[in-house]
This record gives sequence, structure tokens and C-alpha cells, in this order.
Amino acid sequence: MTVQRETLEADVLIVGAGPAGLACALHLANLIKKHDESAGASGGPALSAENIYVLEKGREVGAHQLSGAIMNPKGLAELVPDFEKSAPLDTPVTDDAALFFTKGSSFRFPITPPPFKNKGNYVVSLNRLTKWLGGLVEKTGVNLFTQFGGAQLIYDRDGIAGVITEDKGVDKNGKPKDNFTPGYELRAKVTVLAEGPRGSLTKQLVQKKKLDNINPQIYSIGVKELWDVQPGRIQPGYVAHTLGWPVPTDMYGGGWIYGLANNRLSIGLVIGLEYSDPQFDPHETFQIWKTHPFLRKILEGGKLVRYGAKTIPAGGWYSMPRPYVDGGLIIGDSASFLDSQRLKGIHMAMKSGMLAAETIFEALKAGDTSAAKLSAFQKKVEDSYIKKELRLVRNFHQSFQYGLLGGLFHAGLQFVTGGRGLVDPMRVRPGHEHYHKNGHPPRPRFKGDGRLTFDRLTDVYHSGTRHEEDQPCHLIVHDLNVCATRCTVEYGNPCQYFCPAAVYEPVQEKDGFKLKINAANCVHCKTCDIADPYQIIDWVVPEGGGGPNYEGM
Ligand code: SF4
Repeated sequence: MTVQRETLEADVLIVGAGPAGLACALHLANLIKKHDESAGASGGPALSAENIYVLEKGREVGAHQLSGAIMNPKGLAELVPDFEKSAPLDTPVTDDAALFFTKGSSFRFPITPPPFKNKGNYVVSLNRLTKWLGGLVEKTGVNLFTQFGGAQLIYDRDGIAGVITEDKGVDKNGKPKDNFTPGYELRAKVTVLAEGPRGSLTKQLVQKKKLDNINPQIYSIGVKELWDVQPGRIQPGYVAHTLGWPVPTDMYGGGWIYGLANNRLSIGLVIGLEYSDPQFDPHETFQIWKTHPFLRKILEGGKLVRYGAKTIPAGGWYSMPRPYVDGGLIIGDSASFLDSQRLKGIHMAMKSGMLAAETIFEALKAGDTSAAKLSAFQKKVEDSYIKKELRLVRNFHQSFQYGLLGGLFHAGLQFVTGGRGLVDPMRVRPGHEHYHKNGHPPRPRFKGDGRLTFDRLTDVYHSGTRHEEDQPCHLIVHDLNVCATRCTVEYGNPCQYFCPAAVYEPVQEKDGFKLKINAANCVHCKTCDIADPYQIIDWVVPEGGGGPNYEGM
């Protein structure tokens, strides 16, 4: 289908309105305001916040934002110095505990290890925080477009020059419907990819321009529920991290329990996506974790409010792609700016957004948006606390490829050697290469009791996920024949286990095996794009506005 597209031109186009993208937009708008106020004195071209565009694929800002979430406030304090007056911070951390679970009991570590200390941090709802930040951005005159995803990159020079947004009103066979609206061609002097973990455009750019670092990016998946619990069951600001049961000892994983205001509770489980059992099921393991007596006591009589799942970039410093090309920058989780030991990324996402804004501001003034000019971003990152924090944990997640005990041993050594440990850099293979092959008969699906534990469809209902049903499938499986033949025999179709939203469903029909794809359930976690053993699944943006609604998450 040949499509006539409207072209819009901007100075800066930011793809993704998460903490990184919004911090970039807000800081750049503030720099432009100061510059224009003193333009007579400092000279240089007139710039305008109106020439900054931000794209958000969710139905509103914050709809796709999911995190534990404990925020170190230093990024926000730099961005909005009086943030405490109006930011929705929920609760300051009042107590932090590290717990070890066995099947029937729990032990609190007598001293909370430093990575689990959270005094001075806040338990927040990332959904509310980004909504608030989006409001500040809009007040500056920046154009923030919700319900628009970046579908394709526009390549130019040795980099990028904008994106094409997704076509709207296309039916499931790819034919235009009555409401067909072609995507826009949005061209910009600088395009900033702030898509979060495993961004679909970032993935293309990193592959095409070979921006990978010495390690490939590796990921964890976080599965989360928000509960309203009985009064007195949890103190606001109580923070606990759990190790041990039910996560197998050859895997990386652990849980969190965060007390919010008004008897609300954030609980979740993080699992490293480099496990060997292709039938391992992160959602099911999370449900089983909730049956531990420690959690059961807190949750009994409570009510599930919301559910979500998202991947987390875990590779850190050695997985950071080169974050600049001609006309483009990569920031936030898309650029691996997350401390996988402390599970903290919000402050680094904001800081990277601000550093990108300063780099772009200088580039626009100089009229030079080449990779050489934009490489100043990497230098700024290296001079900032981002590098300092990431270098200290540069080998952390990699250590857990030796199992929990091996991981703890290496992590301890790294702690006393400033991140170095026994081997530096510690190399990793992509997570999907860790599966063991052969002999995987299908196993029964977890059902849940409907009160404390839930099946995936019940949880998906609580994620507020909604997609237009009659649209092309946004989960592109490039060779369904592989699913029906090799994958069934070699791995037993792990997609049916790792997807936390029951999207992939192998069914036996009269004419043989079929992989049913329930794309409308997708919560946009990107696990399938990462964990598929043959790397034949591409997650692409669905029609804008589709996906979860992480209200209050
Ligand atoms: Fe996550 Fe993929 Fe399942 Fe969507 S289909 S919920 S991106 S694993």
C-alpha cells in the first residue's frame, strides 16, 4: 500500500514519555527559555520549546509506566528543585529489610546489606510521577502527543532524522478501514530514543549501526501486583526485599514488598531472563511466592487492585550501547542506565535525559547535530554519577550466571573491590542462549485460587489492557513453522510460559499445531522479543493508545 504522509518538522523529537524522555524535554525547554531571555546578550539562534515534540504510545502519559518503584530523588531534585512541594511522592522509606525465604519460614538479615538500604528514597507510583512530570512539560509549550508510537526510523547520514508514526485504522489483514489515517513523517534535527527497555526502534538502530557494547544487553522481568490490604498489615514506607524460595537456586531472582500510603501495597518478583528451564514461568513463580506465610499474613483479606509486568535492562555499564549517532541519542533504560543491583533506574533515567538536553542545546546553537557533536553526551555521562554508580556494579548481574551462591560470592568480592571482582569485564551471553534443549512435554497451567493467587487472564484484566482488536498483529513471528516443529521438539514452546499475559497459546487443530497469538492481552513487557530461543519474534508498536493502563502503579 503506497501512503501519502504528512510531514512535520521539529528541532527535537523524543520518542517515549517516561522519566528519561520527559526530563529531557523539560530540561531542554528550561534551557531554551533562559537562552531566549538572554538571546540579545549571548547571541545564537532563537530556539523554541514548541519545536520539541514528545511521542507517547500509551493512551495518556504514565499509562505504560511500571516500576517497583523506589526512587532515589537526586535526579528529580536537579530537574525540579522544589519537587517536594508538588510531586506525587507517596511515602518516604521508613524501614528497609532484607529477608531470606525458605518454603515455610523467613529470616531477616541482622544488618541490611548496603544495596538494600533505601533510607532517603521514596516509594512512588511511577504512573503518577510521570503524569505530573508530563503536566510540567506541557506548561513549557513542548508538544506532547499521546497515542502515537514511533513505528519506523527515518535514516539519514550515518544516523537518524526522525520517525514515522504508526498508521491508524488498518484492519487485521493490513487493509485500510474507513477511519484510516496514515502515520506522520516526523523529521527532527535530533531524535531521542527514550523507549524504555528493549525499545523497538532502539533495537533496530543498535543492530543496524552496530552500537552494541562488549556485552549484549541482558534483561530481567518484573511481575507486579498492587494490593489494598487490611489496615495495620503494612506500615507506609516499609520496604523489604526477599531472596530464596521459590526462585530456584540456579537462577537470579528475588521479591519486593513496599508499603504505600492508605494500606496500599506494591509487591513483585524480579527474575533474570537467562534461566535454563524453558518451562520456567515467571508469573506462576510470583503467584507461588505470594503463598509464603510472610506474605499470606499481609495479603489475607486484601484485594488485588492492579497488575503489570515489564522487563528491566540488567547488563549495566558493559551493555550500554554507543548512545549517539548522527542526529540521534539513546537515553534512559533504552541505553542501559539502570543499577541492576539496587534496581534503581528512575534517577539515572532523569539524569541521562538532562544530559541529553544539554548536549542537544549546544548542538542546536552550533547548528551541528552530527555524531561527533552529539558524542558530548557520552562524555557527560562519563563525568556524571551515572558512570560512577554503574561502574560499581559493572559485573553484578553477570555473576548470577553461576547461580545464586556463585552470584553472591562474586557480588561480595565486587563490593570490596569497587566493582572489579575476580574477572573484569565479566562476559555474558544473551539470555535466550541459556535454555536447555529437548524433552519438554507440556505441563499443566497454573490456575490460582482467585483470592490470593490468580491465573494470567485474571491478572491481565487488572492491568487495564486494551487494544483495538481489528488491527495487524503487533507480535510478528517471522516463521510460524519453527514454532510448530523445532521449537515444540527442542524447547516445548517457552513463549507460553514466559509471557506474563497469556498471549501465546499453542493449540492442536485438526490440521495440526497452531500458535494462537492473543495480541490484545499484551502488556508490552517485551519479554517475548528478548526470550524467544530463535529470536524470530519482533514486538512492534500497535495502534497508538493500545496497551496497559498502569493507573497508580
Ligand atoms: Fe510481554 Fe510479549 Fe507477552 Fe506482550 S506478548 S505481554 S510483550 S511477552
